[in-house]
Amino acid sequence: MASSGQTGRLAGKNAIVTGAGGGIGLETCILFAKEGANVLMADISEPALEKALAKVKQLVPGAGRVETKKTDVSKEADVKALVEHLDAWGGLDVIFNNAGIMHAQDDDAVNTPEAIWDLTHNINVKGVWFGCKHAVLSLRRHGKARGSVINTASVVALVGAATPQLAYTASKGAVLALTRELAMVHARENFRFNNLCPAPLNTPLLQDWLGDDKPKRLRREIHFPMGRFGEAIEQAQAVVFLASDESSFVNGHDFVVDGGMTKAYVTAE
Ligand code: NAD
Repeated sequence: MASSGQTGRLAGKNAIVTGAGGGIGLETCILFAKEGANVLMADISEPALEKALAKVKQLVPGAGRVETKKTDVSKEADVKALVEHLDAWGGLDVIFNNAGIMHAQDDDAVNTPEAIWDLTHNINVKGVWFGCKHAVLSLRRHGKARGSVINTASVVALVGAATPQLAYTASKGAVLALTRELAMVHARENFRFNNLCPAPLNTPLLQDWLGDDKPKRLRREIHFPMGRFGEAIEQAQAVVFLASDESSFVNGHDFVVDGGMTKAYVTAE
């Protein structure tokens, strides 16, 4: 793996990562920088971004350009400014629309508050749409011959979870559908759109929500054939592939990184 900004599987590519303050987003920024990309890290939390930037710089001392920009992906003006920030770098090549929330009050059809539904959809769906929209405008503006857009969905967009989080599940289903359609619409421009479908992971998003509630935790752990939650870096490895030209014929794909969870009937033990 390269450690300079000029070599590696993503050498010379300008990439945006949203939700870069932690979890999958941060691990992806680290790998992107290691693989030679210039990275613009976006998150709603400025303190998280500062810490994340320090980590990237510490782990990838020979990185190319790595900067941060506070962004609320549910606000189009923020996303437009984020993408246009890369005009000075020569325009965007890759965007990883990864920011997302799963709210503690998200529940079933009866108990999910409408405000939580709207908040979840504004970030998880509209945020992804805005990222796709401004990526397309930027790729065209800069006359790019190729572009890669990766959107984070979830395995709950593929299988029904009996532990309800309805607004979240519906939002991730929308991400799958919009990504698939954009992959078709922009295929002749060579702008690829793929979904990442992570299984439940060891990141704050899920682990904070599970807390020390052992039965709640066990209900999920029991479904993993490999007997463990996934790690954020295991998602990031897939994102590097989808961002790179190695995946040049992978388009409209739901890239499932789940340790076999969605293929399981009964688990090993
Ligand atoms: P995380 O909570 O560690 O990171 C999410 C980041 O998004 C945070 O840094 C947060 O500040 C940021 N964010 C929240 N709202 C934002 C907004 N409006 N604008 C910009 N940034 C915002 O979570 P993670 O586990 O790394 O999740 C990343 C993505 O993966 C999410 O879309 C999530 O739904 C999805 N996912 C996670 C899991 C899991 O188990 N962790 C499973 C499947 C899918």
